[in-house]
Amino acid sequence: MALGRPPSDLPARRLLAKLRDLRAHGAAPLSELVRLVASEVVSEVCSVYIRRPGDLLELAATEGLNARAVGQTRLRVGEGIVGLCAAQAAVMNLPDAQNHPSFAYRPETGEEPFASLLAVPVRRSGRVLGVLAVQNRTPRSFTAQEVDELETVAMLLAEMLPAQGSAETAGEGLSNTVPRVFPGTTLMTGIAIGPVVLHRTRLSGIALLAEDSAHELDRLRDAAGRMQRGLDELLAGVPSDAAASRDVLEAYRLIAADQGWLRRVADVIKSGLSAEASVSRVAGELHDRMRRIADPYLRERLADLEDLANRLLASLMGDGPRDPVPPGAILLARRLGPAELLDWHALGIAGIAVEEASPAGHAAILARALGIPAIGGTRGMLDTADPGDQAVIDGDGAQLVLRPEAEVRQVYLRALEAASLRHAGFAALRDKPSVMADGMRVSLMLNVGLDLELALLDRTGADGIGLYRTEIAMIARGAVADVAGQAAIYARVLNAAGDRPVLFRTLDLGADKLLPGTVMEEENPAMGWRSIRIGLDRPALLRRQLRAMLLAANGRPLSVMFPMVATAAEFRQAKALLLAEAKRVRPSPERLSIGTMLEVPALMWQLPDLLREADFISVGSNDLLQFMFAADRGTPSLYDRYDVLSQPMFDLLEQLLTAAKQAGVPVSLCGEAASRPLEALAFVGLGLTSLSMPASGILPVKALLAEVDMAAFRPVLASIRRGARGAASLREPIATWAREQGLPV
Ligand code: PEP
Ligand code: MG
Repeated sequence: MALGRPPSDLPARRLLAKLRDLRAHGAAPLSELVRLVASEVVSEVCSVYIRRPGDLLELAATEGLNARAVGQTRLRVGEGIVGLCAAQAAVMNLPDAQNHPSFAYRPETGEEPFASLLAVPVRRSGRVLGVLAVQNRTPRSFTAQEVDELETVAMLLAEMLPAQGSAETAGEGLSNTVPRVFPGTTLMTGIAIGPVVLHRTRLSGIALLAEDSAHELDRLRDAAGRMQRGLDELLAGVPSDAAASRDVLEAYRLIAADQGWLRRVADVIKSGLSAEASVSRVAGELHDRMRRIADPYLRERLADLEDLANRLLASLMGDGPRDPVPPGAILLARRLGPAELLDWHALGIAGIAVEEASPAGHAAILARALGIPAIGGTRGMLDTADPGDQAVIDGDGAQLVLRPEAEVRQVYLRALEAASLRHAGFAALRDKPSVMADGMRVSLMLNVGLDLELALLDRTGADGIGLYRTEIAMIARGAVADVAGQAAIYARVLNAAGDRPVLFRTLDLGADKLLPGTVMEEENPAMGWRSIRIGLDRPALLRRQLRAMLLAANGRPLSVMFPMVATAAEFRQAKALLLAEAKRVRPSPERLSIGTMLEVPALMWQLPDLLREADFISVGSNDLLQFMFAADRGTPSLYDRYDVLSQPMFDLLEQLLTAAKQAGVPVSLCGEAASRPLEALAFVGLGLTSLSMPASGILPVKALLAEVDMAAFRPVLASIRRGARGAASLREPIATWAREQGLPV
């Protein structure tokens, strides 16, 4: 790592030296701090606003505004420029603040003469504790260096604020002892109950300022080296069958080697902060950038970087052993990177809740692979949780229950017990074929996207791979591999499956699945240039992929399907490309099956053409639901607004199954819905005999199907549909029947 020497006297260093003197004389009053900042940053006004309970920002100290406004002026988070700065955790640099649409006039402050305003959030552990603002009469933008200086002061302020009575301490007390429920989204199903451990890095107790920057740079270099070695060991120690994704970890290793962020840390050190404070500051910056990035893939890359910054911090602080983790502990984190998740897993945590996590994120992928119940999006939990609090991760109900009442805890303990008994029962089912009480067979297949999931074929006893999402491995490695690279990946899949069938799906890139560096400019990417549309417009890309599949098959049977097909003509075009490649590759596959996914409702009105040409159809219920109901599948508030168990969906499936049966074309369903026993019951009741799903669904669905009397259910389902009378969902009557039968739904 190339780290330069610090320049001798930057303005920031002078300011920090004075702040150091101030702090050396005990807890510095805020009034001193604002006076010092105003003089050093050369501004006429410097003010500190502190966040109070009720999401209010109160003027706590000022140099330059009316002193009597202190303690009086209050803004809601989101109100005025200061409120906006807090709400968005973003720097506001405005030459003419009073003409900004969000400006909120407070006459008592006497701020009329001041035109320009620079406001920076005061944050700790990702939470905004207040706002630091400077103002000047002259309308001008503040320089990047001034912004930098003010951010450094804000960081120091963050460490001083608890002593000044910020919202964090003021809100403590009763609110931290009562039960709380935090709704979120499921990253991995299952229940875990145990004491809370917190994943967060705090700066308290360490020096923030450093006189000898050269020494700090040396410490940074050493710590970075130690971190890198530790990471190599960690990654090398992951056994190939330990369900840790090589692809995910490989991408992570690449990011660890990136020098850009280490240079940024070195720059901050040169401004006079300690190595620890500098790393923490850069981690904070990464976190802010992440909040503003919509592209889910880039967000994940930045999350990895933040994860690394936290490891570097740990390395700087001595890498001491973590406190022992109590058995069955529940980990609460703001964000969690893949390596951190592996660390905590090794320490024996039983469940995870992450405030900022998406189901498609790396941590979520690993949580599913490791079988750890996990939920994301539980915002606010870190504000009230203390280490040692009891907590329940309810992955099935998508919620975190903090400090549950005794009776609630008992209910969850009973559910956990029942689940482990069920699991013991499930294990016995693993090697049995999925046969219903009437002897009919349903094939239960796996959805797979990464090498690590291949081991799940044996572990679940799945009948094969009903959906191999080829884009996932490419996203994890950061680019679409060349023909040989792809062929190697696909051959590994076929080898792992052995005699079991595999349905490869061609690249489904676009929408929320982007390669790094892709800039999404579409207003509506889910309906944009994605999937087969890209493949048909870039036929060389699609042909290379098809060639790789044929090479991987190496004479074995091969099944390929295309995603997001909207017209029979698109399917015909894609099929023609595959047939053209098949003519060139030897040996030919023993059998070549070419199918399409049904995700776009328009295909329903082209069934005669489609069924003449397709060897099979696989319903992608995730996208089909989103397009049927015009409801973005990535919008959390719409998650349960529309139901796959509904009249329109049932009618569509029935029409499809009837037409396909006449044409002799097999139909399967491969969206996530197939993994939920109640949904699986309805799908099989409608006539589906092949379902593909995430691994967690295979055994529960098999257990249900083994017990259900389908001959009895079919007329019940028909009568529920007849009596629907415009109901938005048919879930309740189906669930009632299943419960009456004692079925494990
Ligand atoms: C689907 O849309 O249901 C599907 C299986 O594809 P994906 O989830 O990869 O979009
Ligand atoms: Mg889809």
